[in-house]
Amino acid sequence: MMTGSKPELPLRRYVDMHIIKSMLLVGIAYYVAALIAIHQTITPEGIAILWPPNAIVLAAFLIYPFRYLPFIAAAGITAELVASAPFFPLWSAICFALINLSSVSLAAFLIRRKSGQNFNFDRLKNGAYFLVFGPFLSASIAGMLGGGVYVFLGRTDTSYLSLWQIWWFGDALAMLVLTPLIVVLARWMQAGFPHFKLHFLLEAFLLWLVVIIIGYQSFNIESSDNAYLFFTPVWLVFLGIVAAIRLGVAGASTTVALITAFAVEHLLRGTHPLIVNMPQNALLLTQEYLAIIAIVSIGLALLIQEIAEQRDELKRHENALKAQNQFLEERVNERTLALKEVNQALQHANDRLAKSAATDELTGIANRRHFLSEVERELQRLRLDGQTASAIMIDIDHFKLVNDNLGHDAGDKVLRDIVEPISQAIRPRDLFGRMGGEEFLIFLSGADYDMSNAVAERIRLAIESLTVNYREHQINITASLGVAQWDGNSHLDELFYQADKALYQAKNRGRNRVFNITNIESENRSSRGSNHEDHFELP
Ligand code: GH3
Ligand code: MG
Ligand code: MG
Repeated sequence: MMTGSKPELPLRRYVDMHIIKSMLLVGIAYYVAALIAIHQTITPEGIAILWPPNAIVLAAFLIYPFRYLPFIAAAGITAELVASAPFFPLWSAICFALINLSSVSLAAFLIRRKSGQNFNFDRLKNGAYFLVFGPFLSASIAGMLGGGVYVFLGRTDTSYLSLWQIWWFGDALAMLVLTPLIVVLARWMQAGFPHFKLHFLLEAFLLWLVVIIIGYQSFNIESSDNAYLFFTPVWLVFLGIVAAIRLGVAGASTTVALITAFAVEHLLRGTHPLIVNMPQNALLLTQEYLAIIAIVSIGLALLIQEIAEQRDELKRHENALKAQNQFLEERVNERTLALKEVNQALQHANDRLAKSAATDELTGIANRRHFLSEVERELQRLRLDGQTASAIMIDIDHFKLVNDNLGHDAGDKVLRDIVEPISQAIRPRDLFGRMGGEEFLIFLSGADYDMSNAVAERIRLAIESLTVNYREHQINITASLGVAQWDGNSHLDELFYQADKALYQAKNRGRNRVFNITNIESENRSSRGSNHEDHFELP
């Protein structure tokens, strides 16, 4: 039967090729590191200055998924046995293998448990867990047990405590120097290497060049030498700090590894400032010296990285907040604009409403209510200023006849057409309103007796000479006008009452004329017996 997929190898079903690769990688690295470590010793019992295999297995335990770990442990044990079998009895080689793997397993278990998924040297906290559970706890346990095995081997005069300490420090130091470097590089390989800028690489190159020069010189000299002051290994501590500041965790780890290589190499050759009469002591001093550099440099790099990350995080938060703010601001602006438009529309509608409430529908001039309120306001102002005013009441003569003869529409036409000549006869600031029917009122502020008579007469003439065209008809009309002078104090009702009275007089006296009652007092006087009526009448 044909299928699209490749036929599966039976082996693949049971063993993941990645696991086999990781086993090979760790096994070979462990073996090579163990061989190198076994050869770098200055003590008679052959304890290594540095024990890198554990650092490699710890790094692998921190990087690989859990299901890989038993396989990697098996590879480590095998590599350890193969490497140490030629130098140690089998029982002790097995002991060493078990001690190393179990102590590293303990460290990895505790570190991963505390730091969570995907351990990396990217948090100060992770660095602290690593330091406590790796170099301090697991390496000291391994040293305690391994020192015991050395005592049982009976090859040494060194005390158990010194053996413990040398093993512990050898293990711890290798972890400090190598594990961060391997973990960081492995994480880069998983996630992609960062793009280093040219000046960064140049800086790293220069720094390492200085490390090489000072490292070579300072370890190549005895402490009794005068030149020692200029090339003391203490300078390298300073360079480790510079590496932490400028190159990050990986750069600091690399620098520490470089310094360690120099220190160990020169210790082995015997040209070392820390060489003293006891090789064990020289070894311990060198280990302590390197441990200080490693902890200070890598720790500082972690701290700086953490601060930088927190700053980035803060920046991200700030940007997000800014974006949110801008979004909100835009929304508010949109809303404000929309509200403004709505408000404007509302204002227009209000204006239209106010206007329609104030105007007479037929003629378009002020209606009764609006006219009266305007007059009221004007009267208040005039009262304060002590000014004079007059009212003219206009009533079309025999208007009923127009309606009766030509129809209501003809009457409406007359009412509409009459407005224009009246408006022309008064000033723009004079108030003009329709009181209802064919009656109009005019309020002249500041007009005295003569002036109001003149205006009224002008109006009368304008109406008289107006010809209203309605269909085929030409309508001529006249109007009677009553004029009243305001006494400077009385209410508008009183004023219009007087104007109405004058109008009545005008009608009575034959229509198409102006009649003026100057003031109420004259009325009072007449009612008190005086027959004199101060009035103006045109023929
Ligand atoms: P006078 O000279 O005495 O004032 O006579 P007149 O016919 O004008 O008298 P009156 O005041 O009694 O008649 C007014 C008429 O006006 C009565 C009414 O039918 C008419 N009228 C009132 N309002 C309107 C209107 O809006 N349109 C029209 N076409 N006629 C109206
Ligand atoms: Mg009338
Ligand atoms: Mg009339």
